[in-house]
Amino acid sequence: MKKYKSVKTLLAHASIEPEQHHGFVNTPVYRGSTVVFPTCESMREGRQKYIYGRWNNPSTEALTQALQQLEGAQGTVLCPSGLSACTTAILSVVGAGDHLLIADNVYSPIRAFVEHVGNRLGIEVTFYDPAIGADIAGFIQPNTKAIYAESPGSLTLEIPDIRAITKVAHEHDILVIADNTWGTPLYFPSLELGVDLSIMAATKYIVGHSDAILGTVSASERAWDSLKKYHFNTGLFASPDDVSLALRGMRTLEVRLERHFKNATLVAKWLETRDEVEAVYYPALASHPQHHLWKRDFKGASGLLSFLTKPSPQAAADALLDNLSLFSIGYSWGGFESLAMIADPTPVRSATTWAADGHLVRLHIGLEDPDDLIADLERGFERFNRLLG
Ligand SMILES: *Cc1c(COP(=O)(O)O)cnc(C)c1O
Repeated sequence: MKKYKSVKTLLAHASIEPEQHHGFVNTPVYRGSTVVFPTCESMREGRQKYIYGRWNNPSTEALTQALQQLEGAQGTVLCPSGLSACTTAILSVVGAGDHLLIADNVYSPIRAFVEHVGNRLGIEVTFYDPAIGADIAGFIQPNTKAIYAESPGSLTLEIPDIRAITKVAHEHDILVIADNTWGTPLYFPSLELGVDLSIMAATKYIVGHSDAILGTVSASERAWDSLKKYHFNTGLFASPDDVSLALRGMRTLEVRLERHFKNATLVAKWLETRDEVEAVYYPALASHPQHHLWKRDFKGASGLLSFLTKPSPQAAADALLDNLSLFSIGYSWGGFESLAMIADPTPVRSATTWAADGHLVRLHIGLEDPDDLIADLERGFERFNRLLG
């Protein structure tokens, strides 16, 4: 593999091998299960690069290698969704009788996973306050195997102190798993900061166009062997069609993130000036409770943020979002387009409590003109104000 000093150049050049593909710039979509051998002997010896579609495929290999370089990982695997990447990272290193620490602000399907699957497999789980920092040491048991974090949490945007957590973890020979979907390795070099298994829902910024579902896990040297074996032996595979969309998306990741960062900062600052808004949760704002950690560890901020409305009837919050013309209402994020939703963190907390009176609105700020987005939200606040009791 070639080495690139600049991430911009890496994104444009990694895994581009025209000489392998009749001069075409991009790696084609190789759809395939069977790979044929010329003789029985060559099959016995396994003496060719591709043996079987699930094991290795030129399309999936191109994305895997590009992401491995981007992450600075010992190895990377592809999973059929972001959630399966999260569960793959966990199950690759945690088993029956092991204890797993999970941050209270994680993507909520992880909570459901440990409840419905982890419990049955005999995995013991404790949720911790994401603001815990070095005090995580107090939660470590003799059977603690891994600490799971999401920085920042994709609903409420708290930033756990990954440096403090990895330091304590490594002193106790415990692995750290972190979901890096929000920052991507461009803005948060998680493996460099001591994370052992770095997850991305590639569905979001890697694919970047809301047209495919995909996940990735990248491992440090200590975690790679377990991850590789788990992934191989459980038969995980990502569709080459989706992989080619991810490769295409990845080429423009840096320029898209830069625009998401710029637009989201403008919208977040504008939201802070509004009387209808109690708080804005965006790590790049000086008012964010862990802004110092963002400044210390992150190189940028992406397009996802949340804000809290002042106390209001549900109908007023609904009216704010209904009839927005540029923001659609929907799950997921990381595409080129703006999205909005109302979310209630109350039922997905156990180690901390979410006790806000207002409604939590999550926005994904897309690549539109930020003035247009602000004007759209301004009309939303007019509808909100008309319905205040
Ligand atoms: C969306 C998301 C996932 C899950 O990704 P899917 O591709 O939808 O399965 C995991 N983690 C975070 C932080 C996410 O935002």
